Amino acid sequence: MITIAIANQKGGVGKTTTAINIATAMAATGWKTLLIDLDPQGNASTGLGLGNDDRESSSYELLVEGAPLVSCIQPTSIPGMDIVPATQDLSGAEVELVAVEDRTARLSKALSGHMGHDIAFIDCPPSLGLLTLNALSAADTLLVPLQCEFFALEGLSQLLQTVERVQSRFNPDLGIIGIALTMFDRRNRLTDQVADDVRDCLGNLVFESVIPRNVRLSEAPSHGLPALVYDHNCPGSRAYISLARELIGRIPGERKAA
Ligand code: ADP
Ligand code: MG
Repeated sequence: MITIAIANQKGGVGKTTTAINIATAMAATGWKTLLIDLDPQGNASTGLGLGNDDRESSSYELLVEGAPLVSCIQPTSIPGMDIVPATQDLSGAEVELVAVEDRTARLSKALSGHMGHDIAFIDCPPSLGLLTLNALSAADTLLVPLQCEFFALEGLSQLLQTVERVQSRFNPDLGIIGIALTMFDRRNRLTDQVADDVRDCLGNLVFESVIPRNVRLSEAPSHGLPALVYDHNCPGSRAYISLARELIGRIPGERKAA
């Protein structure tokens, strides 16, 4: 299994939208896919149609109570895609984990040796606290959604410092599989300029596929569906399919699904 953390400490940059839709695209391609919702807001769980009452298990149990992974996994309505949902008690985890000895390694221990899926995506909360540190410590690699806006690069340098810290202390092999530009608006010159600057600065790390600002992507979660199911042909869905194709191209051969 390859584990990909979707992280950026900024809120509202498209982490959850990317997690839901890229996971759906991977499942549609035949990869057995797991989505781990590590944001106490639970937007990935809601966006996949799991209301509060439908969450039988949670990432809180996995991280804080040490429940086995298999007991925290639930199926979704998407064939080939399972989820570890997030519940509100996860908001206490940052504090509860502080006193725990292996506090940054909880998720990595829970995932280690898991054979039931080909790929796992971790939807991170908008902070660089213990939940995100758990995700970065457990992940093979990181996918960073970057919103095309003026301060995009500023936030990124802080994230990259955290990645270096995690590499030196907890997870030396942590990679960055790519940076995905989100909410791109071709009519807005500033967005265009930011996208060019990011590419100048980070080169091939930036995926060629760009996710456009597309209202269908923001409507889909209120129907409890990935955009890829809600409207598979809208520009946003097509962009995520293209991003998934690029992602597969970057996954090392020995980690590819059979
Ligand atoms: P994050 O998880 O980083 O906080 P979200 O994925 O939840 O970000 O996105 C924030 C908001 O923007 C949500 O309401 C979402 O539906 C919307 N959104 C995300 N990506 C797009 C996009 N490409 N076009 C239009 N709306 C988007
Ligand atoms: Mg989110």
